[in-house]
Amino acid sequence: MNAFEQSWLMMKADEHLYYNVHLTPRNDEESNRLYQLELQLAKEGITFDSGGGLNGRDIHLDFSLRGATPNQVLQRIADIGVPYEIEMTAGDVPYDGTEERSDYDRKERRVRDERLTLETGQTHIDGKPHSEPEVIGHHPCPNCNEPDAIGVLIREGIQHDNKISLNCTECGYMDMDWGDDNDRF
Ligand SMILES: [Zn+2]
Repeated sequence: MNAFEQSWLMMKADEHLYYNVHLTPRNDEESNRLYQLELQLAKEGITFDSGGGLNGRDIHLDFSLRGATPNQVLQRIADIGVPYEIEMTAGDVPYDGTEERSDYDRKERRVRDERLTLETGQTHIDGKPHSEPEVIGHHPCPNCNEPDAIGVLIREGIQHDNKISLNCTECGYMDMDWGDDNDRF
């Protein structure tokens, strides 16, 4: 095992290996082959960050990669016979489509919600303000024939624009916009 391999083994467990593939087509024909490959990959739903300039083209096989593993794309790149170099880096965002990435995204969303909650003083869920629905009163059900059937009035929370709904447990009638036509609340 050489020093290079060893350094990767010592890489922190929560880091992920990224590949930046730098391609240098030598003529128009090779440029076109590379262009066709990227087009074909996109058609297959395989996407990634890329960039280019006078010195060639970079394909970033990192957290931006979707629809394939890095090795699958590396193989496709090798197949077109355009000269390339691979630079390896590491980062803490797992590859798309993995269970680790789902965990990572979930954690990121939670951190963002906590930050928004702290900043605004309003509970946030999935990036949106949230509050629990609460019972605020009762009102005769407009649907029931029963004269004493009483609907429950609920303020639905900020995620539903604090709308007031009327819910009748007798007949199942529900008016999500009851508050709109009734200005007493
Ligand atoms: Zn009713």
